[in-house]
Amino acid sequence: MKVAGTTGLIMNEPLLWEKSKKGRCGISIPESDVPSAPLDAEFEGEGPDFPDLSEVDVVRHFTRLSQWNFGVDTGMYPLGSCTMKYNPKINEKIAAMPGFAGAHPMLPPELSQGTLQLMYELEGFLNEITGMDATTLQPAAGAHGELTAMLLFYAYHKSKGEKRSKILIPDTAHGTNPASATLCGYESIPLESGEDGILTVERVAELMDEDTAGIMVTNPNTLGLFEENIKKIAEIVHDKGGLVYCDGANMNAVMGVVKMGAIGIDAIHLNLHKTFSTPHGGGGPGSGPVCVKKHLEPFLPVPRVTKDGDRYVFQYDRPDSIGKIHAFYGNYGIQIRAYSYILTMGQDLKRASQYAVLSANYIKEKLKDVLHLPYDRPCMHECVFTDKNQEPYKITTLDMAKRLIDYGFHPPTIYFPLVVHGSIMIEPTDTEPKENLDQFIEAFRSIAREAAENPDLLREAPTVPKVRRLDEATAARKPVLCGVN
Ligand SMILES: *Cc1c(COP(=O)(O)O)cnc(C)c1O
Repeated sequence: MKVAGTTGLIMNEPLLWEKSKKGRCGISIPESDVPSAPLDAEFEGEGPDFPDLSEVDVVRHFTRLSQWNFGVDTGMYPLGSCTMKYNPKINEKIAAMPGFAGAHPMLPPELSQGTLQLMYELEGFLNEITGMDATTLQPAAGAHGELTAMLLFYAYHKSKGEKRSKILIPDTAHGTNPASATLCGYESIPLESGEDGILTVERVAELMDEDTAGIMVTNPNTLGLFEENIKKIAEIVHDKGGLVYCDGANMNAVMGVVKMGAIGIDAIHLNLHKTFSTPHGGGGPGSGPVCVKKHLEPFLPVPRVTKDGDRYVFQYDRPDSIGKIHAFYGNYGIQIRAYSYILTMGQDLKRASQYAVLSANYIKEKLKDVLHLPYDRPCMHECVFTDKNQEPYKITTLDMAKRLIDYGFHPPTIYFPLVVHGSIMIEPTDTEPKENLDQFIEAFRSIAREAAENPDLLREAPTVPKVRRLDEATAARKPVLCGVN
């Protein structure tokens, strides 16, 4: 078959220090006409060990390194639970507008009206998209949003004169959920999913008590399934005085479709960098706004952006607030991208979610005869397979994921969620055209054939790219952290 990957012109490239040639210089500025003067004493002696490089050395170095990389601008990146969708460049352009990019966080509100207006309106958009009442843009990532919500839960219970000690967390949850709850002092109580991959009302009813602050539910969950019992579950939690938190990292499946407020959610975080268009995955800045129902609004972090007549102002005087959880007002650059994305998409946001769901179901249906599908039911934005069918050939999920690289695709998320043995979690997102989905499906079908006919090929994969299969055991046991062996 014709594959998207290529062996192409991938250039070798040494470290800058190895490339250095004494006396090379990468700048061309005129001779100084200012008389030279001796350095202050503290600057005398050996300078730092910087390499000597010409301009072309530097440009080729970084360009070559960038070509060793793979991103969503290169090809399909079906990394489940991460929503690696294409981010329209208009959003980058808007975020780089001088009035936004140059805005200093210390400027007083009188000189930042446009900046504040954007924040105010973005909060309103997110309220509408989630069906909630109020939003804070401060948290810097999804996990930070989770922590913020746990602090809100704590403050809420405290305001009722209560101190609860536990929180229910499903076994399919992202690891950040128990981590955030623990940081807030809650003990995480694991909640098993039912046979069909979703939570059961019965199990929640058994575990929920008056010492439990609430529940953290990921919906759609990390198996790509909608928690169909959420409304009943929310009722049980509320009946015991608890609160319902939704990990909304998977919002790309339900934008403008599910009103979170109406299904019993009290607080939800969004990953603006996943769902609302920011290139992510390199550990760069993110944004994890938290949207809440009215009863949690008094506890939101300060400052809140509010309106005084037709002026936008920062409101600090909020006695019940949990305080600040980020310097200034969060990662503003990400907020601008989300604002631009939402305005350019408008009503089509809902359609984007529908496409994301359709694409995942398409892949599920087209691969389920070659890959084992543990939960054979309609999925949301992602579908989860396993390597069970390939067991007779001793081919694992890792082998297949590595082989996919040879076909020109970024591997999907593997071995997560933990409740599925050997899981392969595929999230195609809304931005892949059908021909790419078809090519991906064909690549996976071809890999399944290879598993039966030529398993050694898979064990050696990837064979095409610059970097071959890494020795992960040695990397974990003898990590080299300084970059030099
Ligand atoms: C990505 C993700 C998170 C954490 O988000 P970060 O922005 O990486 O902190 C939490 N839960 C789920 C389900 C996720 O996919």
